[in-house]
Amino acid sequence: MDNRDSFRHNVLTSGHRACSGCGEAMAARMVSDLIGPDAIYINATGCLQVFTTHNQQSAWQAPWIHSVFANAAAVASGVEAALRIKGKSTPVVVQAGDGGTFDIGLQCLSGMIERGHDVLFVCYDNEAYMNTGVQRSGSTPHAVRTSTSPPGQFSQGKKEIKKDVISIIAAHNMPYAATATIAYFPDLKAKVEKAMRIKGPRFLQILSPCPLGWVHDSALSVSVARLAVETGLFPLVELEHGELTGVMRLAEQKPVEEYLRPQGRFKHLFANKAGAVELRHLQALADARIHRYGLLDADTQWDTETAMQSERNGRGGYWEEREHG
Ligand code: SF4
Repeated sequence: MDNRDSFRHNVLTSGHRACSGCGEAMAARMVSDLIGPDAIYINATGCLQVFTTHNQQSAWQAPWIHSVFANAAAVASGVEAALRIKGKSTPVVVQAGDGGTFDIGLQCLSGMIERGHDVLFVCYDNEAYMNTGVQRSGSTPHAVRTSTSPPGQFSQGKKEIKKDVISIIAAHNMPYAATATIAYFPDLKAKVEKAMRIKGPRFLQILSPCPLGWVHDSALSVSVARLAVETGLFPLVELEHGELTGVMRLAEQKPVEEYLRPQGRFKHLFANKAGAVELRHLQALADARIHRYGLLDADTQWDTETAMQSERNGRGGYWEEREHG
């Protein structure tokens, strides 16, 4: 096979209209090339749909269906049921952003899992509604600036913390759910391949940095994704039938500031005292996740009880610290 053959066999070909350095484009390319063209892809509305299909053109070299934001999992359920009745085993794959997963599509996703459809649902998580102008979603982390969570007199960006969607999904007692990022391809590859070997509903949440919405240099997408893992803010985990069965352990934990500083969406946190409070909350949230999943050998680097309380408080103790100075 020469390079031209290789190019032709990419499921997601070049020539689409993603921004330079788009983490979602990288992730979708990785995932679809691992699964191959002999599958049916259902794509919720979102950046991936917009930049790969435009005015009767498509970058997809596989059967591909565009659903609305809300119902990608319902469409996939119907496709899978029809294939089953016909006695065919063609894989069915849903692709959606965090808006189509955490928020608008969650009801259909829950139903698809509960009914046990043999579908892989892939969430390319870029932590906001990017294709409509960077509005906050249920996935947007605490204290992030978006067009609908601007920092100002009354808040330092988004007040709420990111929805713990992997726990919500795993609570369905489904066969397989995992998190991954574009920064660790061998890990992502192993998880996609494992998911494709398992029957029933499966779920992958892939952190996919967005240079436009996260306001970082487009050359830094992979290193930003790696820092999300290394700081503890985005643990790489696997859950089977609701039980934690795998984690990517860390040799050491990096301070969250290393992850936040290259991103303009956190720039306001470095400008004043209120921002410094939020920095401590974000560090506490990262510490809590490190502790929760046992990502380090020793858990003596932080005040565990404070970190866990921050996670339980939901807002990283935001209001408590503001009220008490
Ligand atoms: S806005 Fe973000 S997610 Fe959308 S194409 Fe650009 S970089 Fe990718």
